[in-house]
Amino acid sequence: MEFDIVIVGGGPAGLSFAAALAGSGLRLAVVERLGATELADPPFDGREIALTHRSVELLQGLGAWERIPEAHVSPMMEARVLNGGSPYALRFDAGARRGGPLGHLVANHLIRRAVHDVVTGLPEVTLMAGCTVAGVETSAAGATVRLADGRVLTARLAVAADTRFSEMRRRQGIAAEMRDFGRVMMVCRVAHEQPHGQVATEWFDYGQTIAMLPVNRDEVHGDQSSFVLTLPAHEMDRVMAMDAEEFGAEATRRFRARLGQMRLVSTRHAYPLVSVYACRFTATRFALMGDAAVGMHPVTAHGFNFGLRGADALARRVRAAAVAGRDIGTAEVLRGYDREHRLATRPTYLATNATALLYADERLPARVLRDAALRVGNLVPPFRQIITAHLMERGRRAA
Ligand SMILES: Cc1cc2nc3c(=O)[nH]c(=O)nc-3n(C[C@H](O)[C@H](O)[C@H](O)COP(=O)(O)OP(=O)(O)OC[C@H]3O[C@@H](n4cnc5c(N)ncnc54)[C@H](O)[C@@H]3O)c2cc1C
Repeated sequence: MEFDIVIVGGGPAGLSFAAALAGSGLRLAVVERLGATELADPPFDGREIALTHRSVELLQGLGAWERIPEAHVSPMMEARVLNGGSPYALRFDAGARRGGPLGHLVANHLIRRAVHDVVTGLPEVTLMAGCTVAGVETSAAGATVRLADGRVLTARLAVAADTRFSEMRRRQGIAAEMRDFGRVMMVCRVAHEQPHGQVATEWFDYGQTIAMLPVNRDEVHGDQSSFVLTLPAHEMDRVMAMDAEEFGAEATRRFRARLGQMRLVSTRHAYPLVSVYACRFTATRFALMGDAAVGMHPVTAHGFNFGLRGADALARRVRAAAVAGRDIGTAEVLRGYDREHRLATRPTYLATNATALLYADERLPARVLRDAALRVGNLVPPFRQIITAHLMERGRRAA
């Protein structure tokens, strides 16, 4: 049970990090609480991940992109942001659609499955499914990972990708900023009468926020979207308790029938909205990855995009150290990762929280500011172009 790196958590971030080290010659273990069957073929969890161009490139580099069936990759050509009862929309597109899609939507479970398939084909990775990590201890000499079943793994570096509520982060004494938005986000798929035209809508209404994300049409359901509803928890309980028919009518009413009648065509999944930012991403022979490092509010759709960037940033440094015959778990290697990932994520994390708070505020001054922000966005083209480029992450490569 001796490895070079032990990764706690076989979610999309932990598995992507393992895949990014393919061919490095390092011995890796990924320890995941979920059983092997669920890990290999995860069920639909409601999340449609909006992937930037950079993330698509990273997934291509991992060999995961080609494992996602093309029919399940939905292009997003335009995004519109609406505020309250106003029909005025802030619009983002990639140059009147000439520049191709803004990004691509892929269901989270399909991403998980694709990255899992890559990892199971790698001779250097031992995938330990159905195992829970009970604790990680590290020292200058190495890392010791204790499993709940009593087994012990040793490594030169431990990486925790164990969700935004990371237990390993806490055990390492790493503090984290957390913001509970007091809201729940429900995600599911709905079929609707009118086509969406590959337009994503984010509507910050008063009393509710709705995002409609355009998913590819299929023969069974016809035109369909991912319906993303954000409400205070007690109101969400009522919506979650509705049967399919009631829910379809409720969704249609809440979205003002903009796409005609809507019909529930999937399971519904509710996520409490809590954002998390670790005060440090590393400790002695220890690094945080994915949501355990940066757990984003989903409104700007950056969580997994950042998870992939972090996996790439740490893997590049670890690989370089291994190639040079140096120790892969030194403070120097980890410091470089911490710095790069903080620079890449911190401004967006803060801006996302500020946006989510502003557009949840319904007092009069906030209403005025909400409307003004949208209009400024439309009237100042460079501002819109910067946001669009940021959303797409097109052609941006790390140093
Ligand atoms: C509604 C919603 C919409 C989203 N939309 C987008 C989007 O459009 N774009 C985007 O980029 N991101 C989006 N995200 C964020 C994205 O889903 C997350 O960033 C991503 O799933 C995080 O992956 P992860 O591997 O870090 O963590 P997780 O997916 O939480 O996986 C962590 C894994 O660790 C395992 N684990 C935990 N503790 C232990 C332990 N002690 N021992 C063993 N295993 C353990 C868990 O079982 C789990 O499998 C969205 C999130 C939500 C909730």
